[in-house]
Amino acid sequence: MDALPVTEALDLPFASKVRTEHQGREVGVMHACGHDAHTAILLGTAEVLAGLRERLAGTVVFVFQPAEERPPPGEEGGAKLMIGEGVLDDPRPDAIFALHAVPQHPAGTLAYRPGAAMASSDRMRVTVTGRQTHAAYPWLGVDSIAAASRLVLALQAIPGREVDARIPAVVSIGSIHGGLRHNIIPQEVELTGTIRSLDPAQREALHARVQRVARGIADSAGASVRVEIETERGYPVTVNDPELGRRMRPTLERVAGAENVVTPLPRTGSDDFGHFAQRVPGFYFWLGVRPQDVAAAEAAPNHSPRFFVDESALGLGVRAMAALAIDYLAQAAAPSRGDANIE
Ligand SMILES: [Zn+2]
Ligand SMILES: [Zn+2]
Repeated sequence: MDALPVTEALDLPFASKVRTEHQGREVGVMHACGHDAHTAILLGTAEVLAGLRERLAGTVVFVFQPAEERPPPGEEGGAKLMIGEGVLDDPRPDAIFALHAVPQHPAGTLAYRPGAAMASSDRMRVTVTGRQTHAAYPWLGVDSIAAASRLVLALQAIPGREVDARIPAVVSIGSIHGGLRHNIIPQEVELTGTIRSLDPAQREALHARVQRVARGIADSAGASVRVEIETERGYPVTVNDPELGRRMRPTLERVAGAENVVTPLPRTGSDDFGHFAQRVPGFYFWLGVRPQDVAAAEAAPNHSPRFFVDESALGLGVRAMAALAIDYLAQAAAPSRGDANIE
C-alpha cells in the first residue's frame, strides 16, 4: 500500500528487494512513508473491534485508502476518488479518524494538533519564454535563464512579504530545466515547484501572488511566462475539527498516558485526509515511530531510504484507533457518560 520509488537502505530481514520501472527509470520499491504500518494497524483495529461488535454503539467503517502519495500522472486516486466512489455515503459517517507514522516523535508517543494540522499542497509549473541567442551576445535575444533565476528568488520570498507572515506558508521550486549548451541561451526554461499553506483563504492569495510576481518579473525582462497551478489535483489544508478534538483528545491521553500526547507545530507536509475532513468532522493524529534510543536529529525522515518504524508503535496505534471508535460511539449514544472500554 503506497510504496514509493525508493531503494531500501536498511539491513532488515524483511527489507524490500523489489525493483520496478518508474517514469522510465529502474527503481527500488519501499514502504518509505509507513503505509505498510498504517495498513497493519487498521487491520489490527478491525480485528479488535470485530471482537467487540456487540458492545459497539454504532457502525464503524474502515477506510484502507491507497494513493495518499498521489496517484501516477494522468490517473485519479486517493481520498478524492474514494469520496467520488461513495466511501462517505452509505453509511454517512459522523466523524472520521486517521493516523500517520512519523519519526519526529518517539515510539510510545502520539501527537495531535487542533485546527490546521497539515498544509494544502499545490503543484505548479512555470514556463519562462525568452528569445534564443548566442551566450556571447545576450542582448540580441531575451535571456530566459536570467529571468528564471530572478523568478526563483522572487517566488520563494512571497510567504512573509506578500501574504500574512503569521500564517506559515512555503513556496519552493524543485526543478529547473533549460538549455543544452554552455554557449546558447535557450528559448525556454521550465520550473516546477510546490505551494504550501495552512489557511484555505491564504492558499488562494498565494496562487494569485505567484501569478502576479511571475508576470512582473517576466515583463521586466521582456520575456513571457505561463504559470499552471494544479489546484484540481492539489490537497486541501488538513483541518482537525476543534470540537471533535476537545472530545477525543482525552482518549489519546488515556491510551498513551497524558505525558505522551504532545501538541506539535503544524506540518507543511500534506495529507489527502484533508479531503475527508472537508466533508466530515476529522481527527488526524501522528504516531511516533522513532526508536527510543535514536535522537530526533538522527532519525531518517519519511521518504528516506533509511526510514524505519519501531514496531512497538504498532500496538499503540491499534489501541488508539480502537479506543477512538469505541469512545466516540459510546459518547454519541450516551453523551453524559464518557466510556472507557479499552486501556
Ligand atoms: Zn509520504
Ligand atoms: Zn504518507
